[in-house]
Amino acid sequence: WYVTCSRPINKPVTVDQINLISPALPPSKPSTVDLDHLHLLQLIGHGRYGMVWRAELGNKEVAVKVFQSQHKLYFDNEKEIFQSDLLSHENIIQFIGDCESHSETDSCLEYLLVLAYIPSGSLMNFLKESTCNFFEMCRLVQSTARGLAYLHSEVLAQNGLHKFPIVHRDVNSRNILVKNDGSCAISDLGFAKRVCGSRFISENEDEEEEVSSFITDVGTLRYMPPEVLDGAVNIRDCESALKQVDTYALALVIWEITSRCNDLYRLSGRLDAVAPAYMLPFEAELGLHPTFDNVKTLVSTNNQRPQFPVQWRSNIFEMKYLIEIMEDSWDSDAEARLSAACIDNRIGELRRFWQQRQSSNQLQLQINPADDDEI
Ligand code: ADP
Ligand code: MG
Ligand code: MG
Repeated sequence: WYVTCSRPINKPVTVDQINLISPALPPSKPSTVDLDHLHLLQLIGHGRYGMVWRAELGNKEVAVKVFQSQHKLYFDNEKEIFQSDLLSHENIIQFIGDCESHSETDSCLEYLLVLAYIPSGSLMNFLKESTCNFFEMCRLVQSTARGLAYLHSEVLAQNGLHKFPIVHRDVNSRNILVKNDGSCAISDLGFAKRVCGSRFISENEDEEEEVSSFITDVGTLRYMPPEVLDGAVNIRDCESALKQVDTYALALVIWEITSRCNDLYRLSGRLDAVAPAYMLPFEAELGLHPTFDNVKTLVSTNNQRPQFPVQWRSNIFEMKYLIEIMEDSWDSDAEARLSAACIDNRIGELRRFWQQRQSSNQLQLQINPADDDEI
């Protein structure tokens, strides 16, 4: 139910909208890592195709994603994406390098990706352990949207480097990391693809056959939009269609973040309200291990989406605006969804509005100090 892969293009692309950026650019082809200086210290993550370790590279703390040889295709894809020109962005995990090694247990070849280490780990872990206030919520959402918007964007630098739009194809709260400053970085580019109109762009023509077989088998079931569940992705414009698949998943991630924002429960209810425990999207409806048919019936046939607490459906501007952002972005009509860049802008507006509300409340308190139970 996805697009088929096409050969790499040789002629220049035509694009409607290209971002021009200045020639002062970070290096975009990191060198290979010297294995002698790399020491794996602690297992910190176990994904579908490999294990992630906290490690030391020289005296720098790094994360290392280890792929077994049978998963080399995923390593090659993720490495190719990380090495794309102009991929560096503060909201995309930093790629440091790669190397090969022999497994200690069976001496088979393993493939290693070295990334910046993020101590707080995944957004899902973070949300399980912590709640957030309104500003922290905005920062988590806006930085994630900004990272995805950059991934999706086309950039033509004045020095001739060209970034093709990239679709992630597995946006979920396990594949987003929370940095120490409270902003997020998009990670796990194992399924990501460079796209242009109706084509996937690869540097390796020989991979066409193998790549096309996994194109039909990507993403995380719980985060799949109706058109993917129905096998109805518009393959003629896979660039737009797959960006819309990503924004649907981003909307579910925004729901996860907002569900842990204490201020949202306080705005519409008691001033000392605390967000309830973290839940996955659709966990309330489908539990922890739904089948494909369960998700398809709920999301596509019944057109259901994660629920909001009843008291959020109030007339308070922030609530209405946030709910509208999520509802527009998980619309069953894929073309009606907001772009990631638009979500970034709207959350920026919301943050400014909240800031103004806070300062006018402060002013109110100064004028009338007796009314100290108002927000
Ligand atoms: P997979 O492709 O196998 O899903 P991921 O890249 O998503 O692998 O990594 C799996 C888990 O490892 C993540 O959900 C996260 O908890 C942890 N992880 C991945 N990269 C990092 C990193 N750079 N810093 C800290 N933790 C990480
Ligand atoms: Mg992952
Ligand atoms: Mg992955």
